[in-house]
Amino acid sequence: MMTRRQRIISLLEERDYSPSELAQALGLRGRGSKKLVLDELRAIQKTLKREGKVLLIKPAECRKCGFRFKPEIKVPSRCPRCKSEWIEEPRFKIERRG
Ligand SMILES: [Zn+2]
Repeated sequence: MMTRRQRIISLLEERDYSPSELAQALGLRGRGSKKLVLDELRAIQKTLKREGKVLLIKPAECRKCGFRFKPEIKVPSRCPRCKSEWIEEPRFKIERRG
């Protein structure tokens, strides 16, 4: 039986996922589910280094004006440039380093 954290790691070793897609893949629903996934990703990022792996982050992007956010483990709610809330979530993937 894999823990939730182990399931996230094995999913991200296969392909990239957004936080919403991960929540869905794990069967999580409701308000707190995305935050829960983000918390797990932060914890995972710390442990990966010891295993010679790295968490790749494709940054969030504004779908209206194309503004690119920093590659961070969070989902921005609004674009600082055009104030649009139409935001493409960041995507995450795990790869072996080197
Ligand atoms: Zn924008």
